[in-house]
Amino acid sequence: MERIYKDLLAKQGLSVTATRLCVLEALDVHPHADAERIFSFVKDKIATTSKQAIYNNLAALTECGILREIKPKGYPALYETRVGDNHHHIICRQCAVIMDTNCRAHAPCLEPADLRGFTIDEAEVIFWGICPTCQKTRKSRRKK
Ligand SMILES: [Zn+2]
Ligand SMILES: [Zn+2]
Repeated sequence: MERIYKDLLAKQGLSVTATRLCVLEALDVHPHADAERIFSFVKDKIATTSKQAIYNNLAALTECGILREIKPKGYPALYETRVGDNHHHIICRQCAVIMDTNCRAHAPCLEPADLRGFTIDEAEVIFWGICPTCQKTRKSRRKK
């Protein structure tokens, strides 16, 4: 993994730093993590890191397309390394678990009925609902 990330960074003209590699590693382990969570992961390995360094790196990595940033309503910005496939997200209203979900169509749904002259490169769709685990606890609570 580290090798792939080194190549990715180099291709985007970003210098390969321990912090950047560690941020990418954090998101491998915790996809859809926010800056706080990434910070605590990196801090464990690189004690000298700062929150500002994490924010700066997340911004740089997002800008060059290595990371995707998603901003569900009511959440801090979340990051992931799965980019370029325009997948969607499904979020539980109760426990806030967040999962990837592919489009129903084979091609990403990038075609609104009327493009209004735009060239479109991303469609953001978030599905909200109740996850299977929470559905179960809801049901068992009702029985009591
Ligand atoms: Zn849930
Ligand atoms: Zn995702």
